[in-house]
Amino acid sequence: MDNVPVWGSRGWEPLPALRGDVEADVCVVGLGGSGLSAVRELLALGRSVVGVDAGGVAGGAAGRNGGLLLAGLAHFHHDARVRLGAERAVALYRVTMAGMEAELVAAGASARRVGSLRIAADAAEEADCEEQYAVMRADGLPVERYEGSEGTGLLFPDDAVFDPLERCRRLARQALASGARLFERSQVVELGGGRVRTVAGSVACDSIVVAVDGRLAKLLPELAGEVKDVRLQMLATAPTSEVSLPMPVYRRYGYEYFQQLPDGRLALGGFRDRGGDAEWTDVAEPSARVQDLLEEYLREGLGVRAPITHRWAATVGYTDTYLPVAREARAGVWAIGGYSGTGNVVGAVLGRAAAHRAVGLPSAEWDLFAS
Ligand SMILES: Cc1cc2nc3c(=O)[nH]c(=O)nc-3n(C[C@H](O)[C@H](O)[C@H](O)COP(=O)(O)OP(=O)(O)OC[C@H]3O[C@@H](n4cnc5c(N)ncnc54)[C@H](O)[C@@H]3O)c2cc1C
Repeated sequence: MDNVPVWGSRGWEPLPALRGDVEADVCVVGLGGSGLSAVRELLALGRSVVGVDAGGVAGGAAGRNGGLLLAGLAHFHHDARVRLGAERAVALYRVTMAGMEAELVAAGASARRVGSLRIAADAAEEADCEEQYAVMRADGLPVERYEGSEGTGLLFPDDAVFDPLERCRRLARQALASGARLFERSQVVELGGGRVRTVAGSVACDSIVVAVDGRLAKLLPELAGEVKDVRLQMLATAPTSEVSLPMPVYRRYGYEYFQQLPDGRLALGGFRDRGGDAEWTDVAEPSARVQDLLEEYLREGLGVRAPITHRWAATVGYTDTYLPVAREARAGVWAIGGYSGTGNVVGAVLGRAAAHRAVGLPSAEWDLFAS
């Protein structure tokens, strides 16, 4: 199959590549959900913006993910609390809850607030769910115990799903209508010192936001020790009534994740860990090993026989700090990324925060994330 995601039902008119020299207050590198959130915020702040992407709008993970809008960081709240301290972990969780509200508005009709499930794969994980439940309740965060046809675990009532590609295209259309100049097929080869150079042009600007999740260190090698590339893979089926899943499921500590779309199609991802070292790569192509594991789980674990219509992969950045990257990597270069597989909400929060920092405004969200 063609490495094409199940998302994005409406067409997309390709944008031009950047040719020649242009100027803007801020240049945003990377037109996924995070970069487009930065663009939107910069426009709202009255700044002129040029956005560039090596591929197309949401051609990376932002348009090729599981479509789960989850509050919190990549690590579960009780684990984040141990690592980051109670006060910071709770504040971060609350910032993502507020970010979720913003995302539901920004994403438009494809977003559905249906809640999400964390389902335990075994008794040890059930105990871990119980621990998460106790800590979240003590911290006043929204969670319920869950028992249902999907299994046993936790229900997060405020979480949501969306079509990630549709959301980004919507953000891009709005940004273009508001005066942003966005360019596709414009790979950045050099940046810093108030200039972004692409293969065929350049942007002179006061500051730069780099919003790249996977391959961040290719662009900013100084971040190589902080963020590593990993491949995540998914498949999708034809519409099926073999299962009925009103809520998306996060299973086996989040290694597997799936949601059923309104028309009955099932989008399933996971098994990154079972793919071994081969998955620590920036090659965004599906591999036979992980796809076989996904198919086996689809057939044996979920009991779904519907034909598989899509198989795809994308690259994301992982850190081992429990936090994403949020830093001024070079003078005037505000870098965000490394969401460790959960960047739909956090990336948008940081995109907006980076926009503020890039124009010299304070951002409490930035300060909370910046390590
Ligand atoms: C299969 C899969 C499932 C996932 N599921 C979920 C989920 O359900 N929920 C969730 O919250 N997160 C999920 N994630 C993670 C999430 O998709 C990402 O963290 C998030 O989309 C990152 O968005 P972004 O805009 O920061 O970065 P990206 O989507 O990586 O966008 C960065 C853009 O920068 C561009 N770029 C890179 N280098 C250059 C360069 N040199 N010059 C110009 N442009 C460049 C790329 O072309 C790309 O379009 C999943 C990821 C994958 C791969």
